[in-house]
Amino acid sequence: MLGNSIGDMVKYWEAMNNNLRLQLGNIRASFQKSFYEVEHAHISPFYGYLRGSVSRAALRRIAEELLRVDYAGTNRKICGCTLRTSYGLPCACELGRYTLGGIPIPIDAVHVHWRKLTMEVELEVGEDDGSEVDMTCAMDELWRRFRSLDVIGKRALKSRVCELAYPTMTPLCPPSEKLKTKGRVKKKGEKPAEYDVYRDPSYHEYVNKESQSSQRSYIEDVVNVESDGNCGFRVIASLHGYGEDGWPMVRRELGLEIIYKDRSTLYDKLFSNRLSEVRESLMIESFGSQPPEKWLSLPDMGYLIANHYNVVLVCLGNPCMTFFPMTSSHSPNISIYCIGFVNHNHWVQVNMKEGFPFPPVTLDWRKFHSRTATTWMLRFAGRMQHCQLLTPVLA
Ligand SMILES: [Zn+2]
Repeated sequence: MLGNSIGDMVKYWEAMNNNLRLQLGNIRASFQKSFYEVEHAHISPFYGYLRGSVSRAALRRIAEELLRVDYAGTNRKICGCTLRTSYGLPCACELGRYTLGGIPIPIDAVHVHWRKLTMEVELEVGEDDGSEVDMTCAMDELWRRFRSLDVIGKRALKSRVCELAYPTMTPLCPPSEKLKTKGRVKKKGEKPAEYDVYRDPSYHEYVNKESQSSQRSYIEDVVNVESDGNCGFRVIASLHGYGEDGWPMVRRELGLEIIYKDRSTLYDKLFSNRLSEVRESLMIESFGSQPPEKWLSLPDMGYLIANHYNVVLVCLGNPCMTFFPMTSSHSPNISIYCIGFVNHNHWVQVNMKEGFPFPPVTLDWRKFHSRTATTWMLRFAGRMQHCQLLTPVLA
């Protein structure tokens, strides 16, 4: 900062002042980044309460610590809790407990030091008349704008407001078709046998060869996930924009769906005396591989997924079935989640071409869906018949 040793106090002072300003500017810029920018690693709903409220440096430390959960689990001794004791950030065993419960990391778990994203000094109590933090005018203006917009504008504005209001609910991910293909799944057109849902041996018992090749021609891409007994939930998490690692959230949300009051009579009828069994299958006690009774099983989970996320769920492989929401009516811009069961033990995400045929719905769906939900069958009748023509059941 000083070119040479010649100069007076004024020159030193100016040089120091300039340097400090530069540093201040850098710190301000980093606060702005923490406030407005989301790193790809932090799009998971686990970070929902922290995004934009906690420094990115802290988020990066937490993301690193999350990797230790695989071997530390919820065990304090193995964890050592260094991140908690020296940085005031959630350590591996703590993160493990949130993960198991499918709970987003609470903001209180992060020391206030990491939550300060401004250079301003806190105002003394009484010094502020409240006008600076009063949002009434802004909210009124927001309402005025909302009312003046057309349906598309309303939808866009609502989704932006929801991002602020429900930080852990709004998927910030790009649509699923842009997801990277992982693991051993390769380029389009040359899928390895183990991921081809239509080469699943058991499927041959049900469908003839011709129909398989017709349906196979609709498969655009297959996306693999880690196989640890949570794979089905990983696929749904990924399709829903949570990212594969958001699987504990899906388990928790489906667990809440079963006891959701508006549909509790529906589930009483659907699952009857197996209700608690279905609920248990969603809860896990430990990390690592899950036993078969904890896997995503059909048709039980199919109903819960379609209802909770209000999506059409298409399952390929064996069994092969479609789930429409059971209590809502048809809506034109519905998401279609397509998953495939392979090797009798693994779920994958299947990206299908536009307009692919739907497999049939279950008998219980026909039996228990609400009157308004009939609209799903009516609107998709063409695609369902098409599928029946393609897949004649062998006698
Ligand atoms: Zn710990």
